[in-house]
Amino acid sequence: MNKMNASGWKPGTPVPSDSDARHPTVTGNRALMLEEPLIFEIGSTDTYGVDLPEPSGEASPRLGKFARKNGTGLPGLSEPQTVRHYTRLSRQNYAIDLGLFPLGSCTMKHNPRLNEKVARMPGFADVHPLQPTSTVPGALGVIDELAHWLVELTGMDAVAMSPKAGAHGELCGILCIRAALEARGDAREVVLVPESAHGTNPATAAFAGYKTEDIPADKDGRVDLEALKARLGPDVAAVMITNPNTCGLFERDMKAISDAVHEAGGLVYCDGANFNAIMGRVRPGDLGVDAMHINLHKTFSTPHGGGGPGSGPVVLSRALAPFAPLPFVMKDADSGELRLIEEENAGEELAQSFGRMTAFHGQMGMFTRALTYILSHGADGLRQAAGDAVLNANYILRSLDDVLDAPFGEAGPCMHEALFSDETFAEGISTLDLAKGLIDEGFHPMTMYFPLVVHGAMLVEPTETESKDALDQFIMAMRSLAERAKNGDETLKTAPHHAPRSRLDEAHAARKPVLSWLPAQ
Ligand SMILES: *Cc1c(COP(=O)(O)O)cnc(C)c1O
Repeated sequence: MNKMNASGWKPGTPVPSDSDARHPTVTGNRALMLEEPLIFEIGSTDTYGVDLPEPSGEASPRLGKFARKNGTGLPGLSEPQTVRHYTRLSRQNYAIDLGLFPLGSCTMKHNPRLNEKVARMPGFADVHPLQPTSTVPGALGVIDELAHWLVELTGMDAVAMSPKAGAHGELCGILCIRAALEARGDAREVVLVPESAHGTNPATAAFAGYKTEDIPADKDGRVDLEALKARLGPDVAAVMITNPNTCGLFERDMKAISDAVHEAGGLVYCDGANFNAIMGRVRPGDLGVDAMHINLHKTFSTPHGGGGPGSGPVVLSRALAPFAPLPFVMKDADSGELRLIEEENAGEELAQSFGRMTAFHGQMGMFTRALTYILSHGADGLRQAAGDAVLNANYILRSLDDVLDAPFGEAGPCMHEALFSDETFAEGISTLDLAKGLIDEGFHPMTMYFPLVVHGAMLVEPTETESKDALDQFIMAMRSLAERAKNGDETLKTAPHHAPRSRLDEAHAARKPVLSWLPAQ
């Protein structure tokens, strides 16, 4: 093979990376890290991985004018070639199963293998969403029991299980709020979103047709209660508050905020994606929240990112419960029998539902994993997980706040994540440079440039599943990088030096992505 691959590197020439320049290899491979061309470059259109009977050459008349006139252009590969291609690519990736993944707000905790074992049981794994419900009482039982736990843990009245991600849950909650307001003939137009809220919150409100307005953060990184109260009025439909917020802080005034919003006739949406920090310790229902999504894929350890789909059930207050979307599982009060309520069989339960958000019942595989996690931890274990997540984040905060600026470090302990800024960096060194240096040290970077209230933000969320040894290793790497950033070490600006690819032009890659492969002329 002597083709140029996607990176512009040619086999037989040294890879342009400073660590390799001293010891170039003819293959471009570095030790056991293998260079991998595109699948089109390895495969060829005249070979096949399987033996098929010779086609007759006659296109079926039923295809009419749609019969293909030329080849598909898809590459043919043998099975071992295919397996190696994807295995090699997977080794260039980073995953929670490889090491600490401190991506703030994403709760990249270990996914216990027990969850996987249960989710793979044929009785769960092989259920089809179109099976008659009389054949799947176990699956309905899983949904019902998980729903019970979510309602119990949050102190709310009901839960909509079908939303398939955090942001999808936000939309569900906002649609419930709109349905409730419309039901009382009260068309309100504005949703207030504090600066310390997650970016999806204003996006959700805008998507649902609301005007959004900012509420400033106070000097401690929390919602400015007085500014919020001053803005409340008959045009405000809801407030969307992330708690714990994106500065990694608990919104202590949550109850006062809810009371003020309710008094002004509005409703309270809480972004509960960071529930991991408070589970078993605070019940959002006691704080006056009307709707809150829970990210099963964060708090309850179901795989996410490249590892699997999300799931964002929304817990609802009594005021919003009647507006929840279909379908839902209901337990018959007398017989204890579980029924699935859909358009066809809904009676009064349906009257006020805002409708349907998704084709079926939600992410069954994630429900099974989340319930396994909950049952294997028990109430005391969940409470401890939250405590350990907070402890780990504070360990990082206090182990780094002498070498990095921690903007709200003075305000007391953080919750599940520690926030730093680029304040101490030498002129010309950026948060991006430090994050790229972290890749050289073998870690996935933290969340960067978010939240926006802090300059050059670095948001570090270790989660409770990291050991002290793992945290100490990360802290050692961060301390070294913080020193280099402070001293203006120019080599940071071209990091990573040891990754399969060095510094990319990310703006160019995002704005002008090359998404299709064309054969060389
Ligand atoms: C992750 C997250 C979301 C969005 O969740 P998705 O499942 O990615 O849609 C919303 N808010 C906060 C605070 C989050 O951390």
